[in-house]
Parts: sequence; structure tokens; C-alpha cells
Amino acid sequence: MRTTVFGTGYVGLVTGTCLAEVGHQVTCVDIDAAKVEGLRRGEVPIFEPGLEEMVLANHGAGRLGFTTEAAAAIEGAEVLFIAVGTPPDEDGSADLQYVLAVARTIGRHLSAPAVVVNKSTVPVGTADKVRAAIAGELAARGADVAFEVVSNPEFLKEGAAVNDCMRPDRIVLGSRSAPAIETMKRLYAPFNRNHERIVVMDERSAELTKYAANAMLATKISFMNEMANIAERVGADIEMVRHGIGSDPRIGYQFIYPGAGYGGSCFPKDVQALGRTARLHGYEARILGAVEAVNEQQKHKLAELAGRHFGGDLRGKVFAVWGLAFKPNTDDMREASSRALLADLWAAGATVRAHDPEAMHEAARIFGERADLVLCDTPAQALEGADALVLVTEWKAFWNPDFDALASTLRGRAVFDGRNVWNPEQVEAAGLAYYGIGRGRSV
Ligand code: NAD
Repeated sequence: MRTTVFGTGYVGLVTGTCLAEVGHQVTCVDIDAAKVEGLRRGEVPIFEPGLEEMVLANHGAGRLGFTTEAAAAIEGAEVLFIAVGTPPDEDGSADLQYVLAVARTIGRHLSAPAVVVNKSTVPVGTADKVRAAIAGELAARGADVAFEVVSNPEFLKEGAAVNDCMRPDRIVLGSRSAPAIETMKRLYAPFNRNHERIVVMDERSAELTKYAANAMLATKISFMNEMANIAERVGADIEMVRHGIGSDPRIGYQFIYPGAGYGGSCFPKDVQALGRTARLHGYEARILGAVEAVNEQQKHKLAELAGRHFGGDLRGKVFAVWGLAFKPNTDDMREASSRALLADLWAAGATVRAHDPEAMHEAARIFGERADLVLCDTPAQALEGADALVLVTEWKAFWNPDFDALASTLRGRAVFDGRNVWNPEQVEAAGLAYYGIGRGRSV
């Protein structure tokens, strides 16, 4: 099927590539000309496991094209995806300017019936706005072209996006139009072969489903961080508690890891936007407010522990920081906990020596040249002359360091494990002080 995807970010590029992989004819449109030029040359602008090979193969096979020319990309497409950003507005609501700009572009150029699919995460009611924006442009040029709008929220996880897209847990389709749903089922048939994954509902429910999913996941994290903070104060080990509660199938082991807070481009903005939507409808979503507040506090936890270890004075101290991306297997640093840590350390007069397996270029872009930041090529280099080590992102490469070698390179004696991936006894056996999140040792 001929398909056009607007936006070549994490969602658009992965969606377009996976659709091409199963044989559809896909054109990806972006307003960022440099990105499009790069993609045409085979340069994939983001790190996502397995993506580059798939982009190159499908581009080479002629099934996946990249352009800035929206008009030509719209012509003849049966399905048009909107997968552009919806960043937070000043008041915390989702900024719809990019989504509605694409809708107007579609309305300006649409010449044959098509299904317009909203894949961006958007507040309830946005499908109506997209429909109105397209209809407005069609009316302005006196065109009478049939189109339907489907809400199809995306659930892929950065770091596992290709796999999630190729093997989705579920495909949510929100529309009251039976023909539009049929078109979408044809498009997604290759992803729906081994068992039924498609869940059909109305647009508003589909839009809310995405926010409910992210809010639930963020709640699990903040809940565990709340428990960790209690554990720390009462001398319990949250890791034992985690195993203890996860064994209850009603709770489960998934997504109950305490740590230095959640980040990324989705959880923070989506929890905030859902709270804002609720408020607009006269309801104060108190759980969401608490989830946000706990997370905000948690992002400063590592700096707080460091302050405690060094007697409240971090001036002149050097910190090795392992991990800058908001989670492993991505180069994305949007809202990353590392950013809160670095800001705290710098504000307290400390210097940072940081390493991340994939986010070094992103860190250089965000922070630029500064005297209190050294970006190091290897984890070992980051340790040189450092008074302490802080692990922020649990990349697999950081899970099993040689603590004796680490202790001999590190100048100081403290290790802060922001994701509870290390065995405290092992760290302490190397003569280092261990601080984790809620492990009853840092009281
Ligand atoms: P992104 O910021 O990585 O990419 C957005 C892209 O859209 C950019 O390349 C930008 O240049 C392009 N763009 C902006 N205006 C455009 C226009 N008028 N025409 C064509 N392209 C345009 O965003 P993302 O992370 O891919 O997120 C996209 C949406 O998907 C958001 O609503 C987000 O909340 C949602 N989402 C993201 C994830 C994730 O893990 N990143 C997961 C699920 C849902």
C-alpha cells in the first residue's frame, strides 16, 4: 500500500521503516532538510538497535523514500501518518502546532480519498481538530475529497523501537469509520498474523489509551521510588522488597525498578499533559500530580546522596558519571535524569567526567564546551582523577565492572548506583563506599 509518514523522528522513522520492511511503499516527509538529505545518503540520525540496517535495506530496495516535498508525497497515498512531535506547551499541555501544521498541509494537497492516521501522542479531542484543519483547507480551495481520521497511538519503547514496531503487543485503532478501520487492518495485516493484536475503539478512547498507558508506567516508577525513600529511612533494602512484591502475579516484576527517576520525551510530558486535560475538564488528577512531584524529587536523589557523603561541600570535587541517555540503548537525552544530576553537581561547584556508549554527540550538542565537563571516550577514562563514580543509566556495559581495577583508578572512595544494578557487598569488598537507591545503607 502507498503510505506517507510525516516526521522522521523516533516514531516516524521507525514506523515508516517497519511498514516498508513488510512490503509497503513508504515516503517519509520531514521539514528538516538536513535530516532528509542525510537519510537519503544513508545516514540515520538517531541510535536505535537494528534501525540503520533496516533503513538502508529498504531505501536500497526502493520501498522507503525521504523528502521535504509534502505535495508529491501526499499524491496517491492511501494512508497518511502524522508522527511529528507534541512537546509540552508553557502550561504543560501538549503543543499541537506541528500536528495541525501537517493536517493543514494534507488539506492543501489532498486530491484523492485517504485515511489520515494520528500517531503522535495527542490530547483527547485532537482527532476532531485534525479533521477540522483538513476540512478547512479543502473548503478554502473548493475541493471535495473524502478522508477519514484514525487515532492510532504508538506504544514503541525507545531502545527497542524496531522490535516493538515489528512485534507490537497491541495495535489500537480509534475510529467510527468501518472502511477506515478496514484500510488500517490491511496495512497492519503483516503485523497481526500470529494472533489478534488489533483493538478497535472510538477516537477519544484511543487518544486516552496512550496517556493512560504512560501514566500507569510512570506511576509504577514513582510508586517504587516512594517505597525506596521509605526503605532508606527505615533501614530496609528496596531490592528485597521489589522481589518480595513482584512475586505476586497481581503486581508482577515488570517496571517496578526504583532509581534516579524517569526521563525521556514521553513520560514527563504525557503525565503533565494528562493532568492538564483533566484540569480543563474540571477534575484535579491527584495521583498524576504526586507521580510528577515524586519523580522531580527523585531526579535530585543522586546529588543529595553525594552531598551527604562529602559533608555538604562538593566544591572542587570531580565526579565520574556513567550514562547520560535517559535509558539504555538510546542516544536520547530529553528530560534525562543525568541532566538534573549534572546541573546539581555544577551548581555545587563540582566537575564532571562523563561517558555514555551512544549519547556523547548529544551531550556535546546540549552542553557545548564548558570547563566543568569532560566528555570521555571510555568508562575507564571517566574514572581518572575522580572523587566518586555515579551510575545514572544502566547500560549493560556498566553492569559488571572490575571493582578492584575501578577502585585503583578512582581517586576517591564512593560509588553511587542510581539504578541499583551493583551488588553492595562486591563494591564494598573493593574498599569503596556504596550508595544505592533505597537500600538502607545511606541513612
Ligand atoms: P521527534 O522530535 O523525534 O521527531 C519529530 C519529527 O517531526 C522531527 O524530525 C521534525 O523535524 C518533524 N516535523 C515537525 N514538523 C513537521 C512537519 N510539518 N512536517 C514533517 N515533519 C515535521 O519526535 P518523536 O519522539 O518521534 O515523537 C513523535 C510523537 O510520537 C510525539 O507525539 C510523541 O509523544 C509520540 N511518541 C513518542 C515515542 C518515543 O519513544 N519517542 C513513543 C510513542 C509516542
